[in-house]
Amino acid sequence: MAVTVRSNLPQRRAVPSRNPKGNNWSEHKSDLREDFHNHCGYCGSYDGFSHTYFEVDHFVPKSIFTINGNIGLCQYDNLVYSCKFCNNIKSKKWPSNDENLPNLNNKGFVDPTLAIYDTHIYRTESGSIRWLTDLGKWMVEVGFKFDERDFCVKLLWELNQLRISFLFLVDEAKKYDSNSKQHKIIIEKAKESAFHYTLYRNELDEYYKSL
Ligand SMILES: [Zn+2]
Repeated sequence: MAVTVRSNLPQRRAVPSRNPKGNNWSEHKSDLREDFHNHCGYCGSYDGFSHTYFEVDHFVPKSIFTINGNIGLCQYDNLVYSCKFCNNIKSKKWPSNDENLPNLNNKGFVDPTLAIYDTHIYRTESGSIRWLTDLGKWMVEVGFKFDERDFCVKLLWELNQLRISFLFLVDEAKKYDSNSKQHKIIIEKAKESAFHYTLYRNELDEYYKSL
């Protein structure tokens, strides 16, 4: 069953808790981390695995708005909590010289806090990110290169699914006496998840070494 790329739609708060100036937009990172639920706004990867470094992306690139526009460097509604891969690949890409035109002729981007983001791309059962529209195709193949990164995108998704199942099993185990049969069954399931988690983690470590 296909699902959305991010499990929860990120929503930026109206009033950020800090008010940085100049080049200090990274001071917004802790607010963004919460507002994006600890996941990359673009690819939906979780920020808690080792080797995954998260950054603050300017949705409208600095190179566009510092020349033409009125967007501030620290303007919260232009910032995205992003993994380093999405941020680096997106880089200065923009389909126009107009900061108000994020996409044009099926090229460009959609603000990841808008629900329509999920009308352009989706996640397959195996964790890949695929497109639903021509603009989505551009985002997958050019904007973020999700197709080239497929191995890593899928691994990170699998790891996150296992992390979620751990959390669930830990909560479930608390409901039963530690000597009960139910408790033992849950512990066995958790061990199995841990086994697969470790396999995926090792694969991810090897993959990052190969970069
Ligand atoms: Zn990402």
